[in-house]
Amino acid sequence: MRRFTTLCSSLLALLQLLLVLHLVAQVAADLITALTDQEIEELALLSKPERLEPDGEFLAPFLVKRVPGTEGNRQVQKFILEQGKKLGWFIETDSFTQDTPMGSIDFTNIILTKHPQAPARLVLAAHFDSKYFAPGPADFIGATDSAVPCALLFDLAFSLDHYLDQFTDPYTTVQLIFFDGEEAFVGADPNDFIWGSKHLAAYWERPTLFPATPSAVPYKTPLEHIDLMVLLDLIGAPAPIFNDYFANTSDYFHALAGLESRLIKLFLVSRHKSYFKTDRQFVGGIIDDHVPFVQRNIPVLHLIPHPFPKVWHTTKDDADALDHLVIHDFSILMRVFVASYLKAHPTPAPSISKMSPRLR
Ligand SMILES: [Zn+2]
Repeated sequence: MRRFTTLCSSLLALLQLLLVLHLVAQVAADLITALTDQEIEELALLSKPERLEPDGEFLAPFLVKRVPGTEGNRQVQKFILEQGKKLGWFIETDSFTQDTPMGSIDFTNIILTKHPQAPARLVLAAHFDSKYFAPGPADFIGATDSAVPCALLFDLAFSLDHYLDQFTDPYTTVQLIFFDGEEAFVGADPNDFIWGSKHLAAYWERPTLFPATPSAVPYKTPLEHIDLMVLLDLIGAPAPIFNDYFANTSDYFHALAGLESRLIKLFLVSRHKSYFKTDRQFVGGIIDDHVPFVQRNIPVLHLIPHPFPKVWHTTKDDADALDHLVIHDFSILMRVFVASYLKAHPTPAPSISKMSPRLR
């Protein structure tokens, strides 16, 4: 009898898993057609490409040396906080000090949330620190690593903010995470990397009275509010190839490729060829800020090209390494993806009772 009960509960668990996978696949497939062509065109027209130029308001402040614990890093933190205030989003900081191969270093992760009371979050993240190199003839700036991804997060937030005020599903909101300390200082020690994300993931694992924890569901940890984390890294160089890294977010990866294909058909991006490799799943581990979250079962869409840009971790990773059409195209795709995810089209918001059931 006990064996029969165990068998039944195993079957039930399997059925639940299959149902969840089916729902994820359906939700992801729906993303591709969530918006009309007209709405996609409208979103593309929100672009202000000059903001993402090397001297543009979102990119220029990141194109400086910003090693954790230095003045350059603090100046970038100040810029992120100022933009958060301008947006009027909820601002949280996660500051901590750790012993590193370079001695005791202060780190600060910054989190901006559009509607902190929404119980589910679509997280978009990038690291704002730059890698430490011993002083040499040229500074390491890390334009693709990850100045451009950070600038893209602000382009997304400012261009969509108005739409997010009108979105039709009050259940889910957008949260931006700017990680500090992604880079290793020396790299010889296996613990010498992703300092900020390791700290935040561990911090968010605990039930907390964190100010942004929605009061309707006070016992969930901040981690449990994350629906999906999209991590951007090494973006901005010519001809990136994005791979399908994780089985549990493969449907979202394909949805992104499907939206890109709509943008290509509508001539809203500059290219005709996809940046997304959808024919096989990538095998192999890339250490990045997603790791502490994946270890805690958070679904992650990792948007990092592989192979890495040729300028990776060299002083050539500066403004000259950037391809502005790639950056512009990518900004439109991210905007359309997020608007589709949140069903953020300018139509009257339905009442709560008409909200579609979500995956949690
Ligand atoms: Zn790097």
